[in-house]
Amino acid sequence: MKKTILSIALIVLFSWSVFGPPVIPAFAAGQFLQMPIRVHHGPIICAIEPQTNPNFPTIGKQLLAETEYAVIDWKTKLNQGLGRHPVWNITLVEVPISQQTSFNYTECDITIKYFPEPQKNSNGFISTGVTIPNFETGKTNIEIYYLDVEPNWIKKEWTVDNQMYYTYVDEPQYTGLVATSTQLDSTIRHEIGHSFGLGHYIVPYDRLHNIINGLEDMPSIMIDTVTVLGVKHYDITSLDVAQVKSIYGDGGFDNPIQKKDGYQRVHQLGMSKQFYQPGEEMTLNVNTDMFDDKSFAEILVIDSNNTIVDNFGISKSNSTIPLGNTYQKNGKYLAEIINPITGDWDFASFTVGIPISQTANMEQNVPALQTQIPAWVKNNAKLWSQNLIPDEEFVKGLEFLANQGMVKIPHNTGENNLGHIPGWIKTNAELWSAGEISDDEFVRGLQYLTDNGIIPVRK
Ligand SMILES: [Zn+2]
Repeated sequence: MKKTILSIALIVLFSWSVFGPPVIPAFAAGQFLQMPIRVHHGPIICAIEPQTNPNFPTIGKQLLAETEYAVIDWKTKLNQGLGRHPVWNITLVEVPISQQTSFNYTECDITIKYFPEPQKNSNGFISTGVTIPNFETGKTNIEIYYLDVEPNWIKKEWTVDNQMYYTYVDEPQYTGLVATSTQLDSTIRHEIGHSFGLGHYIVPYDRLHNIINGLEDMPSIMIDTVTVLGVKHYDITSLDVAQVKSIYGDGGFDNPIQKKDGYQRVHQLGMSKQFYQPGEEMTLNVNTDMFDDKSFAEILVIDSNNTIVDNFGISKSNSTIPLGNTYQKNGKYLAEIINPITGDWDFASFTVGIPISQTANMEQNVPALQTQIPAWVKNNAKLWSQNLIPDEEFVKGLEFLANQGMVKIPHNTGENNLGHIPGWIKTNAELWSAGEISDDEFVRGLQYLTDNGIIPVRK
């Protein structure tokens, strides 16, 4: 069964709704799940100021300020008792809109971006935030969603052997307002906790019920944020601090101890192919030999910007998963698996839109973009993608890029061969003009056209 969910933030609910509440004795009091993310030195956290939102003109500054408090809170609590010799170093770098084009993002270990709600193609999941590891680069992205979410608990009943069972499942909704600072503050602290390697803290249902009803304080900031929406009192607790120290030791992020368990890559993912054309059917193979009937794991597919493209839970029964034909955007993708019980993880990469023979050339031949692509080229691409200007006009933009050295032109260009431009290039042009794919990705698509003689270009 392929069940579309939610997000890492909701993995607890996923496990409940599919397998029933976790009544395993080990969870009797409360327990951390695994999150196979590690920082390898005192992390640099980059907070990227969000685009202005006319409905909420001060939200950007507010989010940056709240992120600053969250980082100070983590740092203070980790260093508590260490006096003037703190060892837990965390550096926060705020990147205002005006600096975002020139900023060197490679220095960021953890990047925090802010959006009103999850971006499209995310299967309509509702979340207050999500942490997205990139197992290949070792870097982590956090997305914080700043629209208000309200809980909406629904009773679900099912029958096994004439015995009726029920559980409550939260199907939260956006209210259309901006989130309360309680929601934002606790979400930011929670997601930063994930980026340090903390999994969700699971409590049995009766305790959760008490927490939601204000009868008990939250024992951990890592309780699933959506589950505890509306809870007024939250904190980074001593349990959270102890859990970070159990992962890294007492020497801080810069002097981690080597821990054997809880962080191991276990090869279990593979793609049917390494290279695909846009829209081609693709299959993800998962080795679930180690799963038992109650095991589950989370699959994330992310693009080269570390944006979630696909996200779902799997069980032992689905060892082969069709990813479908929704991968229209050129570029490299990572499929990642996280097992929150064992901490096992793995990833497999695949590339859409570029044949194998092109890939080898491309990496040597395409220079990094030194110059900004002018607005008129982008505008032409947009008009062309909407069939408002002929191919020739679009090619003028391509010629400009060629003359700037952005697209490398092969030596023997034949006669103009227009009319064989594949449909996906037009899709790319549309996405690019809308800012949804990077200049680099778009230029790679153009490179494909020129390398294959589809669009010969005069220099
Ligand atoms: Zn979470």
